[in-house]
Amino acid sequence: MPHSHHSHSGQFCRHAKDQLDDVVKEAIRQGFEVFGLSEHAPRWRVEDLFPEEADLKPSDLLSIYLDFLKTAIELKIKYQDQIKLLISIETDYITNIDLTNILDLINEHEEINYIVGSVHHVNGISIDFDKSTWLRSIQSCSKNEFSRTMNPGPPPFLELPSTDDDNPEKESIKYQNDYKPTEKELIVFLKNYLDQQFNLINFYKPEIIGHFDLCLLWIPDFKLKFIPIIWNRIIRNVKTVIEYGGLFEANSAAIRKGWKGSYPSEDILELIISLGGKICLSDDSHGISYVGLNYLKMKDYLVDQGVKEIWYLVSSSERKEDGDIEFKNDRQRVRARKLDKWDTHPFWERKSKDI
Ligand SMILES: [Zn+2]
Ligand SMILES: [Zn+2]
Repeated sequence: MPHSHHSHSGQFCRHAKDQLDDVVKEAIRQGFEVFGLSEHAPRWRVEDLFPEEADLKPSDLLSIYLDFLKTAIELKIKYQDQIKLLISIETDYITNIDLTNILDLINEHEEINYIVGSVHHVNGISIDFDKSTWLRSIQSCSKNEFSRTMNPGPPPFLELPSTDDDNPEKESIKYQNDYKPTEKELIVFLKNYLDQQFNLINFYKPEIIGHFDLCLLWIPDFKLKFIPIIWNRIIRNVKTVIEYGGLFEANSAAIRKGWKGSYPSEDILELIISLGGKICLSDDSHGISYVGLNYLKMKDYLVDQGVKEIWYLVSSSERKEDGDIEFKNDRQRVRARKLDKWDTHPFWERKSKDI
């Protein structure tokens, strides 16, 4: 204790900072015992690159991920006496190309211990890049049109909203940040997100579900519980994960992005706990200064919400302990282990004195 199952570094990701070795050193300094290196999966289409990747090709992203694997293996050995590093891949699910190509990559690389199963796109458009891109995703859902984050170019650039011939000003007004999508528009968007997540859950049976309700990033106070078409989908997704033994990460990045607590938000967390789901911890760090960031706030939030036990991953090559749980999927590269009384671990005391 403690653990993080989800991290990135600037060495292998353009929107993160710092060298992976330095990120690991910081995790050791803070007293992390298990730290998952879960670099983003490569993306396979030019239109799925981000603006900061405009000089790259999809094949470059694959090379970068393979370089990450090499470095991660080296670090795992280098620091084996100080920290248990696990190697992972955080998925994207933009189109079905991602599903099959990432699965091939995982099957070819036994060194990938587990999957962080995340959805960052709805209807082909990124939902966590910025607010106007998120709004474009919502609009594409309500129009039932599949789209993309970037114009494939050359040169690649963020797609602009389509213009309305009758009223050229109408669309540009829509993309101002004070534009509020209607509840009806949001419901179609959320439904699509949850259906994509359901596909991803069934396809990989990921050991970790990444930021379960990233779909609420820009609307943290939107209540889902009384919208049956949405809430029933959440119940369906949560039950499916519980069935094969997946862990739901409490992800502290939400706090950095302005939420009061971590992902998952209150109602969903309560549902997961009531159905017997397992919670694990993640900082989703994107550089040294994000390691363990907002962990104390996340702890308080989870304790308030009634999280009594925390789970974490151990490599299947480690000696099996009583109570270890295997995942009902076909990888078996890690097992889940429970930690009781997690909130009184000395880590929190140390962390409260660390600035
Ligand atoms: Zn990232
Ligand atoms: Zn993510």
